[in-house]
Amino acid sequence: MLRLGAQRLRGSPLRGSPLRGSPGRPRSVSGCEGKDNPHLSAETRWKDRAETVIIGGGCVGVSLAYHLAKAGMKDVVLLEKSELTAGSTWHAAGLTTYFHPGINLKKIHYDSIKLYEKLEEETGQVVGFHQPGSIRIATTPVRVDEFKYQMTRTGWHATEQYIIEPEKIQEMFPLLNMNKILAGLYNPGDGHIDPYSLTMALAAGARKYGALLKYPAPVTSLKARSDGTWDVETPQGSMRANRIVNAAGFGKELFESDLDRIMEHVEAAMEMVPVLKKADIINIVNGPITYSPDILPMVGPHQGVRNYWVAIGFGYGIIHAGGVGKYLSDWILHGEPPFDLIELDPNRYGKWTTTQYTEAKARESYGFNNIVGYPKEERFAGRPTERVSGLYKTLESKCSMGFHAGWEQPHWFYIPGQDTQYRPSFRRTNWFEPVGSEYKQVMQRVGVIDLSPFGKFNVKGQDSIRLLDHLFANVIPKVGFTNISHMLTPRGRVYAELTVSHQSPGEFLLITGSASELHDLRWIEEEAVKGGYDVEIKNITDELGVLGVAGPHTRKVLQKLTSEDLSDDVFKFLQTKSLKISNIPVTAIRISYTGELGWELYHRREDSAALYDVIMNAGQEEGIDNFGTYAMNALRLEKAFRAWGSEMNCDTNPLEAGLEYFVKLNKPADFIGKQALKQIKAKGLKRRLVCLTLATDDVDPEGNESIWHQGKVVGNTTSGSYSYSIQKSLAFAYVPVELSKVGQQVEVELLGKRYPAIIIQEPLVLTEPARNRIQKKGGKDKM
Ligand SMILES: Cc1cc2nc3c(=O)[nH]c(=O)nc-3n(C[C@H](O)[C@H](O)[C@H](O)COP(=O)(O)OP(=O)(O)OC[C@H]3O[C@@H](n4cnc5c(N)ncnc54)[C@H](O)[C@@H]3O)c2cc1C
Repeated sequence: MLRLGAQRLRGSPLRGSPLRGSPGRPRSVSGCEGKDNPHLSAETRWKDRAETVIIGGGCVGVSLAYHLAKAGMKDVVLLEKSELTAGSTWHAAGLTTYFHPGINLKKIHYDSIKLYEKLEEETGQVVGFHQPGSIRIATTPVRVDEFKYQMTRTGWHATEQYIIEPEKIQEMFPLLNMNKILAGLYNPGDGHIDPYSLTMALAAGARKYGALLKYPAPVTSLKARSDGTWDVETPQGSMRANRIVNAAGFGKELFESDLDRIMEHVEAAMEMVPVLKKADIINIVNGPITYSPDILPMVGPHQGVRNYWVAIGFGYGIIHAGGVGKYLSDWILHGEPPFDLIELDPNRYGKWTTTQYTEAKARESYGFNNIVGYPKEERFAGRPTERVSGLYKTLESKCSMGFHAGWEQPHWFYIPGQDTQYRPSFRRTNWFEPVGSEYKQVMQRVGVIDLSPFGKFNVKGQDSIRLLDHLFANVIPKVGFTNISHMLTPRGRVYAELTVSHQSPGEFLLITGSASELHDLRWIEEEAVKGGYDVEIKNITDELGVLGVAGPHTRKVLQKLTSEDLSDDVFKFLQTKSLKISNIPVTAIRISYTGELGWELYHRREDSAALYDVIMNAGQEEGIDNFGTYAMNALRLEKAFRAWGSEMNCDTNPLEAGLEYFVKLNKPADFIGKQALKQIKAKGLKRRLVCLTLATDDVDPEGNESIWHQGKVVGNTTSGSYSYSIQKSLAFAYVPVELSKVGQQVEVELLGKRYPAIIIQEPLVLTEPARNRIQKKGGKDKM
């Protein structure tokens, strides 16, 4: 029931008409004005050439101009169609928080806040930054679990964060109704900034360091030129740019005020903070916020368009602007991202991201803004897209699907009669046993998995070998063979991991994970153009389906369907051949991420269902069955196979990630990152990836948990799983070199509890090719 304040509000004569102090953009700012501070006034200059043209004068575009100019880039030009902050920025609430549930974005929040703290002093422009701290409130036990989960993910970051008891919450915020409150997540240093003044301060800084901020100057046309530069048109004149950064925001004006629509939330706020009932609402701003399908912005260079970068789709642009400006500026200036921020890669979306999908997701994202964020979370709106595999219809009712770059891929298969619901949890949940059965299926018999979401590229042409030798740290495989290769950044970090199959002389099939398809393609295409290589690069991801068949009986089952000799000596590990499986043409690669005997079968996507059917029929006697990516994860962890994005990324070098075997520092080609890696090796490593086991109760590591030693956080896990072979949890983790020896004891924090863990000799389970080698030599198998 509404009490005093709300009743007054509902009956207010102001309702429906502009409220007191109707929203308006601040025209002046406290502190210094244009006449006192030369860096605050608009410019009358124009330039015909620019190194970088930034489109959009919101907080994000202006922050990038500030960072680029400050870092020394000449000819930075920002074009704004109206006036600075005219888009979303001027009407944002301006909340600034250190908290972000993601891993890398915490760094962006941190960098923003550290910049905002000193901006006023640097630019002479008041920014209205207040940092009283914030408390997130838990009123349910699952929310308390989420806080504990978040604590362990924050422990190895610079951000300060604490779980606090109800008594402490009340002491810090006496106005709160303490009914139902179980705990709080406290971030000191969180606060509020005036978004308009912040942007003006960044603008003052940008001008001080030499950037040109031009408005009104709407960009009306962009034309890409064959030399990679751009022609930029505005009514005020045109300009040639070496690089474009689109920071044009959402482009929507305010909506009509609609208090009724948010009344439910206003009442909830009044319930939590009863004093609000006595408050008058003097102003309502109904401003559009951008909601991308996953609520994250798109930041970075765009695949398929040279020298075109984006910084768009910000739902929380005020807190992101400072850090993102720095991140992008570093990337533009140094040719590689300063740290891993793969979740913001604009190339995570593709042609499958239709308007229909985006609209469904935007609605879902808005509604899900504050829901509990589970590990392995799935969101179902807008699915399936048009990008389904040829097996989707066959498998849809049999399994719980996960969403991967537009595709649906089986995560785990239902056991008849058992719970088939999607039940996310911070602890083991209803897929624990089915995944265990799939694990056994692959270890003891034979399993089939739909791997169609893999990114797939065909590379050929007279310079293909030279290009790949320059891109990859491994040697080029011989014709008819495959290897695992890494693309490194100039600083020697891992940009990508692909399998490279040399199909015929000079023609290659490159395979990458679903999440890295366009991310990898952009890098390959860019290097090909930069070096003037004569190659043809084709993205064939949507043309090919992929079936993985793995387990000890795989050979027996597939041999029934092909005249090709599949015996170990004739079809060797990592060999690739074109053959027919029951008359269906496939490219077969003897490789499996399960580490068991297996083949990946690449085929025309329209043949997927037929191929699947013949294999399943042929394998009846051997007890063939499906398995999904959760079982695959458990299998690969036991074999100590690293995963791109977890064990290796732009924050790690391949030596600390234990990938030395794949990096050929003595190959003749001067591959990207080679020199840097030699230096890293010469200096010695500071940390190392290790495998550890731990006995827990009902929870397994997911990755990004804190590792403790003698009361201090010393590292972090990168991924984890239950090991069905030893009935314990298993994880990869980065620890300091001095703590990386086998037998070293550490602790892993999971949901507020520190579990004793021990570093083991990897792999926990030998791979099939390794077991085979040992058996052939007459040695003993570890299993
Ligand atoms: C009600 C509300 C509350 C919010 N609260 C918060 C909060 O508490 N914390 C937080 O972090 N975020 C908050 N936000 C989100 C935040 O406002 C935005 O994420 C942020 O302002 C986006 O900044 P931007 O620079 O990307 O875009 P914008 O501010 O929209 O700037 C884009 C600019 O590009 C210009 N432009 C467009 N097209 C062209 C063209 N062709 N040529 C030249 N210029 C062009 C536009 O005029 C505009 O000025 C809130 C938003 C709303 C609506």
